[in-house]
Amino acid sequence: MSSPLTRAARVAETQFVAPRLIRIALEGPDVMAMRPYIPGQEIAVDVGSDIRRKYSAHTVDFARGRIELLVYLHGSGPGADWASRIRVGDGVRFSDFRGSQIVMTPGVHDAVFFGDETAIAAFAAIHRVSGGRVWIEGEEDIAAMLEAAEVPFTGVRRGSPPPLELARGIHATSRASIYIAGSAALVRDLRDILLNHGVDPARLRSKAFWGKPRREHALVA
Ligand SMILES: Cc1cc2nc3c(=O)[nH]c(=O)nc-3n(C[C@H](O)[C@H](O)[C@H](O)COP(=O)(O)OP(=O)(O)OC[C@H]3O[C@@H](n4cnc5c(N)ncnc54)[C@H](O)[C@@H]3O)c2cc1C
Repeated sequence: MSSPLTRAARVAETQFVAPRLIRIALEGPDVMAMRPYIPGQEIAVDVGSDIRRKYSAHTVDFARGRIELLVYLHGSGPGADWASRIRVGDGVRFSDFRGSQIVMTPGVHDAVFFGDETAIAAFAAIHRVSGGRVWIEGEEDIAAMLEAAEVPFTGVRRGSPPPLELARGIHATSRASIYIAGSAALVRDLRDILLNHGVDPARLRSKAFWGKPRREHALVA
């Protein structure tokens, strides 16, 4: 069941961190009361015409009542269009924090991460607490995007085989949590590889962040 959009805030700042990555800061008193919050969790945002999209909190500052999102502008879609057109001062409706899979694991201070551009915010929020190695796959600009976003992550070209270092990291730190998030295909393929290599499924925390067009697109096609 989808969460009610009971929270509201104003857009306090928008900044193109890179040509296809935008940082959006939402501010307002509602945010001060949005507990509980676990690093890695997302909010569901009303992106217009009764359509919602989920965005992970990159940073949360309860004292200021501020949440920052990092939205990847993949092309056209209700979420990407919303992120491209919003302006400072616009009102935004959204849900409480939600999500239980791509979140900080209590007591675990060792992790490895693999995802795509849509996972940068969630991984950054968890990584600040847990540390660990993070790989983000993307296009040829991925290393520049990560540098501009000021995250200590390693960029890899989309579709290349999982880095050997990932396998080494997994074996060397055998109790590490393994986070995988991004396209449904990436999540499925990487899960299969890891499970085929005997990785304990209990260590895997994975979630498809995007995939095939949603129903509202199919209906207008
Ligand atoms: C728990 C969770 C957390 C998320 N956190 C973030 C986040 O922090 N930042 C973020 O940017 N997104 C995040 N997402 C993804 C986000 O919710 C949307 O799915 C994404 O923004 C695309 O929505 P859209 O409306 O623009 O496109 P859609 O209507 O979903 O898709 C339109 C078309 O674009 C394609 N498409 C969609 N996304 C991509 C992509 N990344 N690359 C290439 N093609 C694509 C689709 O396959 C489709 O053909 C998260 C998703 C989940 C489930």
